[in-house]
Amino acid sequence: RMQRLRARLAGAGTIGATLLGVLSRADLQAADWEEIEDTLLMADLGVPATERLMGALRTRVKVEGTRDPQAVRQILAEELLALVDPAMDRALHLDPAPGGDARVRPATVLMVGVNGTGKTTTAGKLARVLVAEGKSVLLGAADTFRAAAADQLATWGARVGVDVVRADREGADPASVAFDAVREGAERGIDVVIVDTAGRLQTKTALMDELGKVKRVIEKQVPVSEVLLVLDATTGQNGLRQAEVFAQAADVTGIVLTKLDGSAKGGIVVSVQRELGVPVKLVGLGEGPDDLSPFDPHDFVNAIIG
Ligand code: GDP
Repeated sequence: RMQRLRARLAGAGTIGATLLGVLSRADLQAADWEEIEDTLLMADLGVPATERLMGALRTRVKVEGTRDPQAVRQILAEELLALVDPAMDRALHLDPAPGGDARVRPATVLMVGVNGTGKTTTAGKLARVLVAEGKSVLLGAADTFRAAAADQLATWGARVGVDVVRADREGADPASVAFDAVREGAERGIDVVIVDTAGRLQTKTALMDELGKVKRVIEKQVPVSEVLLVLDATTGQNGLRQAEVFAQAADVTGIVLTKLDGSAKGGIVVSVQRELGVPVKLVGLGEGPDDLSPFDPHDFVNAIIG
């Protein structure tokens, strides 16, 4: 799995390669340190994390006098792992709590995020993962503003063998589609209903109203199990600002970082968790149905450092 992650993470190993190159130089100059720092910043680690990593590296190299690239790489990996925080709960909570009421079905997942980040694709891939785990799944197309969005979800549904509940007309109330999807899920004894929402970057108030309403109508029937915020890794710090708006509009329980296959900016994991205080739970590594993985901090650190 790690090899796959590494192969898909474009630019993976850049940090490791830079480290190796710089450490092999006879006399380390300020410019050499800057080169390492630039590599970390370019990977979107953000300034605080980069400063912490640079501090650890300087200590290792200057104070301890070590130039062994493997030892230094190890320190960097440990520091990065601490920043990614392996202790965070990254599980999707879709099963009834132990001793909980198994009749409280379906579990519900709300997909939120800016258009184009990969929400619909992720909804389809997630449906596939859950079906493979033996769960029954229903998709709800609550992005009623673009007929194309519902069509795209319907295509994914057909692809992964899952029914899609959609509005009978364009511009219908997204909340009513979400309500219908969950009601149908309950009636059919479905395990998980995944609701895809609209991601128009409108005013914050409008977004909050809309997502709030979608959430409330679901909660009239069952609790919302997970609110997954989808974030495109290639959009860097700008995407992070947009994500903050969504995080404020909905009680996000986890982040899905998409398009990591096309980006050397995996460091965004550190910034996004720090900024939003929510764990990255899943990563998108391509456009295909099997290109969704749980986020594993150890694999990730090894892949990014190379
Ligand atoms: P939405 O508007 O947020 O629902 O975004 P879509 O699901 O329509 O995805 C937008 C584009 O990104 C599509 O062309 C997807 O195939 C592509 N995409 C989504 N996730 C990934 C990913 O993990 N990797 C890559 N390379 N492309 C992705």
